[in-house]
Order: sequence, then structure tokens, then C-alpha cells
Amino acid sequence: MRIGHGYDVHAFGVGDALILGGISIPFEHAFVAHSDGDVLTHAFMDAILGALSLGDIGQHFPDTDPQYRGCDSLELLGKVAKMMKLRGYRVGNADLTIIAQRPKMAPHITNMVERLASALACDCERINIKATTSESLGFTGRGEGIACHASVLLESVTD
Ligand code: MG
Repeated sequence: MRIGHGYDVHAFGVGDALILGGISIPFEHAFVAHSDGDVLTHAFMDAILGALSLGDIGQHFPDTDPQYRGCDSLELLGKVAKMMKLRGYRVGNADLTIIAQRPKMAPHITNMVERLASALACDCERINIKATTSESLGFTGRGEGIACHASVLLESVTD
């Protein structure tokens, strides 16, 4: 088994929807980002890459590379899933936390789990997503952006 942790932050900018966990949530802002800004998927990918000792998403998908401009982060998660499979691992379980004052995440959690599980070709029961506010404290509390943490345990397919 191998363990990994990921953390990512994206700031709010001009727009009318957030891409989070592979779904679009109507909102009064969008994420400022080179890609689609899917901060949850980014944290998840970093956790998997960390567990594989493969660095981070910045090394594999640099934000200076024009091919990743506005890209679908779920496609990148699919690429990370291939790297994981190639090395003989699958997701044992993942626990993801969204820190956001707004919007309300509860109505979207099931959809996000389904999208992420589909990109990884794993069972939904292996992925847990929860959301919390930061009690109006700090940058997330002021509504300046969203932070996400991801913990993941990978298990060897051959064991
Ligand atoms: Mg990011």
C-alpha cells in the first residue's frame, strides 16, 4: 500500500460557474486558472502522484504549456489513472475535503464522486468527498477562493 496527500487552492475571478470534481456549479464567480481550475481534482491528482512518488501535477502538466490551457482536469485525472495502473496500483480509498464558504456543496457531492470514480474506473464507494466552511475565517471564509485537501491510499493490484 502507498499513501499520498494533495492540497490545492484556486482564487475566484470573473465568471458564472465553478468546475469542481468534474461538474459545473452555477455561481457568481469562476476560478482563475490556466486549466479549468478544478481545485478538487487537482488536489486528488497530487495525492495519487504523491503516493506513486511521481512528483506533482505541475511537473506532469505544466501551466506554462499551452496544450493545458482551459483543459478538462478529468482528462488529466484519466492520465494519472493510467500512470497508476501502469505501476500496478489502484485506489484503495480516497478522502477529499473541500473548504469553501459558498456555494453549498451538499447537492453536488454525489455527482462529483461519480465523475471522479468514472475517470479512475473505480467504484464510487472508494471515494469520499466532504465539504466544510472555515467559519468565515481566512481567504476561504472571505469568499476569495476554495481550498481542497486529498488523502489517498493506493493498493497493489497484484497483492
Ligand atoms: Mg490547481
